[in-house]
Amino acid sequence: MAHEEEAAADLVTGVLIVGGGQAAVQLSSTLRDAGYDKPITIVGDEPHLPYQRPPLSKGYLLGDEALGGLEFRSSAFFSENGIGVLLGERVESVERTAEGAIVRTSAGRAITCDRLVLAVGASPRRLPIPGADADGVITLRDAGDAVRLGERLAAAENVVVIGGGFIGLEVAASARKLGRHVTVLEAAPQLMGRAVGAETSAYYLDATRRRGIDVTLDARITGIRTGGDGEVTGVELADGTVVPAQLVALGVGVAPRVELAEQLGLEVDNGIVVDDHSLASDGWTLAIGDCANLPSPYPVDPTLTRVRLESVNNAVEQANHAAQTILGTPVAYRSVPWFWSDQGDLKLQIAGLSSGHDQVIVRGDPAADRVTFLYLREGRLIAADCVNSPADFAAVRRALAGDVRVDPARLADTSEKLAVVLRDAVSA
Ligand SMILES: Cc1cc2nc3c(=O)[nH]c(=O)nc-3n(C[C@H](O)[C@H](O)[C@H](O)COP(=O)(O)OP(=O)(O)OC[C@H]3O[C@@H](n4cnc5c(N)ncnc54)[C@H](O)[C@@H]3O)c2cc1C
Repeated sequence: MAHEEEAAADLVTGVLIVGGGQAAVQLSSTLRDAGYDKPITIVGDEPHLPYQRPPLSKGYLLGDEALGGLEFRSSAFFSENGIGVLLGERVESVERTAEGAIVRTSAGRAITCDRLVLAVGASPRRLPIPGADADGVITLRDAGDAVRLGERLAAAENVVVIGGGFIGLEVAASARKLGRHVTVLEAAPQLMGRAVGAETSAYYLDATRRRGIDVTLDARITGIRTGGDGEVTGVELADGTVVPAQLVALGVGVAPRVELAEQLGLEVDNGIVVDDHSLASDGWTLAIGDCANLPSPYPVDPTLTRVRLESVNNAVEQANHAAQTILGTPVAYRSVPWFWSDQGDLKLQIAGLSSGHDQVIVRGDPAADRVTFLYLREGRLIAADCVNSPADFAAVRRALAGDVRVDPARLADTSEKLAVVLRDAVSA
């Protein structure tokens, strides 16, 4: 790792990975494990060693996990494996050269590489409404945001969460567990609408309310109110209601970081467009993780040919496939996507993609908060949203690697283990 005085020294490297997050760390270690022997350099603009983001909205806010414990790897791991990690340094410009590319960083350094990987993640969206930049309106993407959110949470009595997606609901559950009065305002007619089926959303609406969190769907937010000191005091809705808040957590989605791709003239469309070897439109630059728009690695819905997946699983799997591309042994990226979201005592695990389903089977008891929603398309099982049902999740995840056609009545029958039902279906 560079010291301050070394920061401006130019560098020459083999693979240069821009972005020090989940995908970057995975790619660097997979390349080393596979015997890649040239220098690898990661440049990340955050001041910390690469760390896990998922606990930021859960264990960290609850005080169960400290930031220092979230690092993927120690600095010794990186130096022992010949992986240079430049922290607090932003790549500001990039251009192709005859042999590769050259980037320039905020520290005034030029880095020449023979392979460039963009693993730059995404930035949280803000809302174009009056008061959106007031003190106390906080997005959550990185460790700095989590510290600010945690400090505010300690002092707030009323918390409004704008956005009922994974991160919004995780923050809401954490705040509620800490005894705050919490209101979730969601503009859409359902919670987590981008990620789960309507049946799962409906269950979550009920379960979230049962946990003492107020939820308004179809919310039309017109502004954020502030006091004379510029501090947030509430959120104003189109019908004139003002929901009081000393903290507003914004969880309204992210925008993929595409500036460097645009400098390179790469195709960009809701992310950096790549093929199933993670190659961008120039056939040379790679893009992985949250910033990449890729051919669906799990093509079960013919109308969903491309996806941008925001998950640990995709960052890891796509990085592993990208390593094969760099090593000259490309393998098309095919994988059953999976996700999780811990919201207080509700552990949601999702296997597959439910987009395009035409049938839903409910297995278990929603009222007891132990339920699995199984999604089928033309008689084939394509996805499951599992709540507090890890065995069902493991069984579905395994089975989805094949073409599973199964009697819906057996899927709903909890007297038989799902693993047994699915094993029979796969071998049938
Ligand atoms: C609060 C929170 C909770 C989450 N919970 C879950 C969960 O429960 N389950 C799950 O599957 N996923 C979860 N995720 C999503 C998951 O963390 C992401 O999908 C994953 O981190 C993506 O990895 P990445 O490497 O693509 O991007 P990131 O981890 O975002 O890393 C990108 C890095 O690149 C840096 N960067 C960007 N531009 C530049 C530049 N020009 N120069 C240098 N550095 C740059 C960024 O600052 C960042 O550090 C959560 C995310 C958040 C924020």
